Amino acid sequence: MVNSSNFREKCLDLQRGKLSCEENVRYFLSNLEKSNEKYNIVLELNKAAVDRAKTLDKKRAAKEKLGHLFGLVICIKSNITAIGLGATCASKTLENFTSSYNADCVQKLLDEDAIIIASLNCDEFASGSGGENSAYGKTLNPKCPDRIPGGSSSGPAAAIAADFCDIALGTDTGGSIRNPASHCGIVGIKPSYGRVSRHGLIDLAMSLDQVGPLTDNLYASALLLSVIAGPSPNDATTLPDKVPDYTEHLSAKKNFVIGRVKEFDELIHDKEIKSMFESTCKELKEKGHTIQEVSLGESIKLAIQAYYPLVYTEFFSGTRKFDSIKYGKVIEDTTGNEALRRILGGKEISRSEYDGAYYKKALATKELISQAFDKVFTQVDCIISPVTPKLPHIFGTKLTPEEEYAYDAFTIPANLAGICAGVVPKEKVKLENDEVPLGIQVMANKLKEDILFEVLSLFEEK
Ligand code: GLN
Repeated sequence: MVNSSNFREKCLDLQRGKLSCEENVRYFLSNLEKSNEKYNIVLELNKAAVDRAKTLDKKRAAKEKLGHLFGLVICIKSNITAIGLGATCASKTLENFTSSYNADCVQKLLDEDAIIIASLNCDEFASGSGGENSAYGKTLNPKCPDRIPGGSSSGPAAAIAADFCDIALGTDTGGSIRNPASHCGIVGIKPSYGRVSRHGLIDLAMSLDQVGPLTDNLYASALLLSVIAGPSPNDATTLPDKVPDYTEHLSAKKNFVIGRVKEFDELIHDKEIKSMFESTCKELKEKGHTIQEVSLGESIKLAIQAYYPLVYTEFFSGTRKFDSIKYGKVIEDTTGNEALRRILGGKEISRSEYDGAYYKKALATKELISQAFDKVFTQVDCIISPVTPKLPHIFGTKLTPEEEYAYDAFTIPANLAGICAGVVPKEKVKLENDEVPLGIQVMANKLKEDILFEVLSLFEEK
């Protein structure tokens, strides 16, 4: 793991001109040329990236004020819009679509002098947890190429692991930033719902989606989130609260009371995950923090069952615009199996004769889960858990939809409750010929990203 202090140094080098923006872009472009064919991470390169770097170098030479992300190279998941780049959502449905506007998060990072170099592969319409559902072929995990990189933000996580960029932007509806961050051995942050504008993010489920950073160190994630967070007139669900400078929260300011969820313990499937989790709790205790068992009650057992009716219904509704009139193709004729399953399932659930029965039940469960978290956060500062109940499988392993959906048992709850959560690398497990990275997840209450970063910093080598 590149540690935060090296990355902080790099930012300073760019600001001082010790490293030029052009050199930085060319470094990543050469990595990408060398290994993208092997990993299948990039869907489209931004041809204007080198020119932008040259313009930024001139800006520095002219002694103009430089932005917080000056010269940093960023890749974005292909469900986020950036002018001139395709936003295909890794689907044939949108294969001819080029964005005509910048997503709010993209505009903010460009305003702070970042450089976008590519749009990345993912599970089609962010539907999946393995990176195998893309219409443009699966992405390989640079850390262990026989196994899935995780998903749906497979491209962004793999891009960081393969050293294709400084920062990648992903999206997380039920775990899609955190799950691949764990499998690829990097950092991934899902902000609280409403912390980051969703304008320009092509929805999977609008009541759950959030954009967030994937990086190889905590400082980069904190820096990026400080830039993209905050209210937007383009997204009515964004919250007005002031955004702290998260880079000032990269060390623990006290001994924390940390919860471990009783109901999660029985879902852990692999012994390696169990032993990593137990030793993590032990280490935290040795460092002086308190580990407290907490219960999220009965409703948490229905998290996956509540999540999918919400996702199916909202995805069905959100994709009605892909009827060929504006975007060229009818989604039902052009999409892969998983997205189609969600559309057909969503259509069924939304039938008028059911009068919203399934959707309303799922919403009620979501509310109960949210209340359970509120209660737990009166007892503890944060919660830790494994990221997934299972280690990443070998490519080609046949899974039923239910088995695939079960990967998100520990990540979906944070989306349902609207709280923030993040993942940092913890260990590597030896499995046959592979060294499989394993992350640890921290969850903190709504808008408590400052606490989230402080707790995550306990796991970063200083
Ligand atoms: N795996 C989950 C799903 O397929 C989560 C996806 C996501 O977070 N975008 O819905």
